[in-house]
Amino acid sequence: RDFFTESNQKLQSFNDFLSVPRKIVITTHQNPDADALGSSLGLAAYLKKKGHHPTVITPTDYPDFLRWMSGESDVINFEGERHETAKKLIANAEMIFCLDFSILNRIKSMEAFVRQAPAKKVLVDHHQQPEAFADYVFWNERAAATCELIYELIEKLGDKELIDIPTAECLYAGLVTDTGSFRFDSTTQEVHRIAGELIAVGIHSNGIHRRIFDSNSFDRMKFLGFVLGEKLTYLPEYNVAYMAISKEELSRFSSKNGDTEGVVNYGLSIKGVIMAAIFTEKEDMIRISLRSVDDFSVSELARTHFNGGGHKNAAGGRSSESLEKTVEQFLALLPQYKEQLVGN
Ligand code: 5GP
Ligand code: MN
Repeated sequence: RDFFTESNQKLQSFNDFLSVPRKIVITTHQNPDADALGSSLGLAAYLKKKGHHPTVITPTDYPDFLRWMSGESDVINFEGERHETAKKLIANAEMIFCLDFSILNRIKSMEAFVRQAPAKKVLVDHHQQPEAFADYVFWNERAAATCELIYELIEKLGDKELIDIPTAECLYAGLVTDTGSFRFDSTTQEVHRIAGELIAVGIHSNGIHRRIFDSNSFDRMKFLGFVLGEKLTYLPEYNVAYMAISKEELSRFSSKNGDTEGVVNYGLSIKGVIMAAIFTEKEDMIRISLRSVDDFSVSELARTHFNGGGHKNAAGGRSSESLEKTVEQFLALLPQYKEQLVGN
């Protein structure tokens, strides 16, 4: 299977560009998850071994359950104290890697700076409908994770032996997260091959699973109980389940960034449910997270109605309406999708 959009000639020119030490910025989408941060830090570690000077800059902060990743303490949050340093690094970079997102508006206020930067831009991603902004494109919608693409890129460049344990841990974390612990349709033989090779490097896979999934605070478990008990709505006539969480409810459980991560999957775990949604009230917008099974495309729904996108079975978007209005809008859409949701 051909993973890369680029020709061998382009890969050669990419490799040539990296044949001398370069100032490099690596960035990823806002609210980074394990695939976003893992691919960024995995790539950074590799580039460092090759003699380059990479810095990972994230558009926003990320959840605490990712803070174990190697190199994480050097990450610059563009919204944090080192904002000015980050701007200089972007302006002076020779190459900027954009990982795990396909449209530049996903890097929030960094977008303008990255667009203007004279650096060569590289896209490594698996989201639908990539924007044409990069000089080098390593993109495949069928890849389970950006970490899978980073592994294959390193492999294609003939550098697999440079993947050490801390790097392998970062890449494995992305594979685990984006495949839903190796259960989504995207979990191919190739994914298992790469996971196997990362385990062969010497990682402790159970430790990684636990750091990501079994690191809940007690508050978060109470929050989950509240959400499943009081907020989950099931619409059997549409095979849809959804939850809407207000700012007040989030603060009632001292909810932290990342506490709603994965909650949408509980809706999808109801027998027969085809689509699950969670609406979360943020400071300046409503965040929408959508999941589906089989052929129902939530990325189409997110793109068409909620200013978002993603993958067929996992997508997101946003709304500037109120929480109630956003949910109403979502419910009003269901009749037009009914055939796809309950068909056959
Ligand atoms: P989540 O619901 O976990 O935030 O996102 C699910 C998937 O959709 C992830 O792969 C994420 O990167 C992608 N996604 C989330 N929000 C957006 C969005 O606004 N635009 C696009 N293009 N993709 C999104
Ligand atoms: Mn991803």
